[in-house]
Amino acid sequence: MHPLLVEIARIAAWLLLLCAVFVPLERLAGVKRQAFLRPEFATDLGYYAINAILIGMFLGAPLVLIGATVHQFIPSAVLDAVAALPGGVRLGLSLLVAEVGFYWGHRLSHEMPFLWRFHSIHHSAEDVDFLTNSRAHPVDIVFTRMCGFVPVLSLGLTGGPAVSALVLVIATLWGFFIHANLRWRFGFLENLIATPFFHRWHHTNGAMRDRNYAAMLPFVDRLFGTFHSPDHWPNSYGIDTPMPSSIGLQLVKPFTRDRSTSAPELTDREPDSLKAFDGNANLVNTDVETGLDEHSQFRGDGIDAKKRK
Ligand SMILES: [Zn+2]
Ligand SMILES: [Zn+2]
Repeated sequence: MHPLLVEIARIAAWLLLLCAVFVPLERLAGVKRQAFLRPEFATDLGYYAINAILIGMFLGAPLVLIGATVHQFIPSAVLDAVAALPGGVRLGLSLLVAEVGFYWGHRLSHEMPFLWRFHSIHHSAEDVDFLTNSRAHPVDIVFTRMCGFVPVLSLGLTGGPAVSALVLVIATLWGFFIHANLRWRFGFLENLIATPFFHRWHHTNGAMRDRNYAAMLPFVDRLFGTFHSPDHWPNSYGIDTPMPSSIGLQLVKPFTRDRSTSAPELTDREPDSLKAFDGNANLVNTDVETGLDEHSQFRGDGIDAKKRK
């Protein structure tokens, strides 16, 4: 069979598996009532197909090339020390290094206007569910994955292709999970691992969008002062700037001179009058001026909303 057909069959099988797991769960335990065939479902399905095929086919070679190039500039003492580590420690370190790389790639995508032109597509989703994970411009995905994987590759932290593939599959599946429309809470585990609650705050249409960047390990947000975990759910997702609904127009929009995309000014992400609801759908007003409530867990960080004015 033609390799492209094999690839299409592979991503279709993964999609069926994801639907089989998440569609019933979201129906039973959704934090927000929304139809399976919600608005923009087809757009997100398009992103799923495009990104699965393009990223799978074209990311590997540049990654290895850039990783090998950076590798040349790392002192041999560091490489020798890494190579001497036991396999389990190397694996743990590779997860940590990748997570910190993803964190900064993601955070830069919010803080640099040029990168936000691409990343804003992911945030334009107003109905967040497991498939929102796929809603991302290929440039956005390539950039953040480069930020995560290049340090791992250049430090020689990979545990071989099988381990790398396993880590990638787990990280990808976790991405679908944290976008799922699930009202489950996980108690103290939420301090250890990213959950739908953690990531839904990142998708709010307000200042809290610049919090909770981590893909899997929330302590990285704690480390860099961007952790946010109030005791209620947000109820408003998306961005204020316009975004075309067509996937074709979305894909070209970052390359155009459209000011609505090129100016993700901080005013767009200033704290707004956040309303949130608890699990019983009771509306709760948070502090209008700061967008914070008494449960916010900011650490002193360089991007405090007030400092950004
Ligand atoms: Zn983001
Ligand atoms: Zn997301």
